[in-house]
Amino acid sequence: MIDVTKRLQAFKYELMPTGEQQRDMRRFAGACRFVFNQALSLQKARYAQGEKKLGYAGLCRLLTQWRNGTETPWLKDAPTHPLQQTLKDLERAYTNFFAKRADFPRFKKKGLRDSLRYPDPKQIKLDQGNRRIFLPKLGWLRYRNSRDAPGAVRNATVSLSGGKWFVSIQTEREVEQPVPQATSAIGIDVGVARFATFSDSTFLAPLNSFKNHEVRLRRYQRAMSRKIRFSNNWKKAKARVQRIHARIGNARRDYLHKATTTISNNHAMVCIEDLQVRNMVRSAAGSIDAPGKHVRAKSGLNKSILDQGWFEFRRQLAYKLAWRGGSLIAVQPQNTSRECPACGHVAAVNRQTRARFKCVACGYENHADVVGAINVLAPGHRVVACGDSAQSGRLAKQEPTEETAQIIA
Ligand SMILES: [Zn+2]
Repeated sequence: MIDVTKRLQAFKYELMPTGEQQRDMRRFAGACRFVFNQALSLQKARYAQGEKKLGYAGLCRLLTQWRNGTETPWLKDAPTHPLQQTLKDLERAYTNFFAKRADFPRFKKKGLRDSLRYPDPKQIKLDQGNRRIFLPKLGWLRYRNSRDAPGAVRNATVSLSGGKWFVSIQTEREVEQPVPQATSAIGIDVGVARFATFSDSTFLAPLNSFKNHEVRLRRYQRAMSRKIRFSNNWKKAKARVQRIHARIGNARRDYLHKATTTISNNHAMVCIEDLQVRNMVRSAAGSIDAPGKHVRAKSGLNKSILDQGWFEFRRQLAYKLAWRGGSLIAVQPQNTSRECPACGHVAAVNRQTRARFKCVACGYENHADVVGAINVLAPGHRVVACGDSAQSGRLAKQEPTEETAQIIA
């Protein structure tokens, strides 16, 4: 008998909207941003007054008032469901903050990740034969097709990136439960100087190694700053800067996809430290372990790139391994940088510099990140061997959605 499992997958296409549809999408994304910011400032005010945070249902009731009130009548033009989804996003942002997975929710800015999500499949019509999708209040939108999206539509997200509109369609379908082809296990240590180091001594270069793009980005940013604000030339320069941002983002995503595909194809079990990204970035800046030598994670830009990179890396690994029947195991980091993998001696002095590990008891030497990766792998083996999931590690949750059909035009 073959086991069948449900697979959620997202397919992203570039839209070819009419001028009117573009204006509507901008307006609707603006309404979503307004609702998000309005709800966030309300929650902040409640907190300042010592009141409890409003739940999702309470926020939705408020949204209805805003839509029907006299101050923001234009909210009524925007589709309801995407507006409610932004309230869900705010809920999630708070949850992630309280779970120490993310920073405190921030206000959304115009032109930064403008998007709207349609969660109800009953309101979405996908006509793949004619390469068009129907979305409430936008009508039929044409898109560039690279490959068909198999399965039943679950939701759709419209977003603006680099001056172009995209739609990401998530579908669900049944696939055979795969039997892992690979049998080996590997440990991964993620860091700043090296994006990821493996227990077999190989490593991935840091994510901020897209230097040539970044040199160009800075040049165009300088050019933009010399223009008169909101002039036509300024707008042109700004569009150029946004295009480069999008290109850098695509290059990074592409890099991460290649890396996670290779890892999940070659290993049945991957162990990774269950680190909170926030802590990692803080230690990168030099406030936790060692002073942050060799680290250029100080600027906001680099920080956010690292944040996203690690989240994304782990997310991709989790679902790609699951697709192939393997598993990702998140291991509680305990002495991973101080314990000698050869003799088990634990001492801070074992780690002599950021990069160098030398055991003071037995003399074992290796790159410190490789030692970290080996030490992450060991408890992972224990988790699998004795089902000991509470103490030393746990199966990482699979976050299902992904864009496999990236279209970069
Ligand atoms: Zn030793």
